[in-house]
Amino acid sequence: MAQNFTTWCEVEKNPLETSYHDQRWAMPITDKQELFALLMLECQQAGLSWAVVLKKEQALAQAFLAWDPQALAQMSDAYIEELKDNPEIIRHTGKIIAMRSNAQAFLRLEQQGIDFSHWLWSHDLDAQTLSKQLKKWGFKFVGPTTAQAYLEAVGKINPHHPQCPCYARVEQAQQPVKAKYQA
Ligand SMILES: [Zn+2]
Repeated sequence: MAQNFTTWCEVEKNPLETSYHDQRWAMPITDKQELFALLMLECQQAGLSWAVVLKKEQALAQAFLAWDPQALAQMSDAYIEELKDNPEIIRHTGKIIAMRSNAQAFLRLEQQGIDFSHWLWSHDLDAQTLSKQLKKWGFKFVGPTTAQAYLEAVGKINPHHPQCPCYARVEQAQQPVKAKYQA
């Protein structure tokens, strides 16, 4: 989400956005596969509204093989050609191809013995640092705006407005996760 994070709680939202805001936004995610899936969704968002991504979330998951990095890394050129004509997804050639190269980058991390979840949670990261590191690892569509949205989405920070009903619940959910990885 590129929205001003101090006010997204307050602005008018469509039902999908409301449900995402109320139930998922900034609730901490530590599962590696879920972290990868959400990173890919944020890459898909680059330059678009989060509402578009939410609307297409299921179609994207279906087209991109349930965000399974192993399967994505092996997408054939023919399959990528097919995806370019799929009206259900975001038809951006660069982004479609990046889903394969990002999956390959993710798998390379594993081969290097880097557990992405552990790395993410045990480092103090701002958007610039995260963006730089992801690019260094070979990820595409991971500029600072995307990185900022990702840090919010996975619950590394609490972007809810202190007056938002979600603020305290998210804070409570994040604390034990942060404590665990800082120990
Ligand atoms: Zn909120």
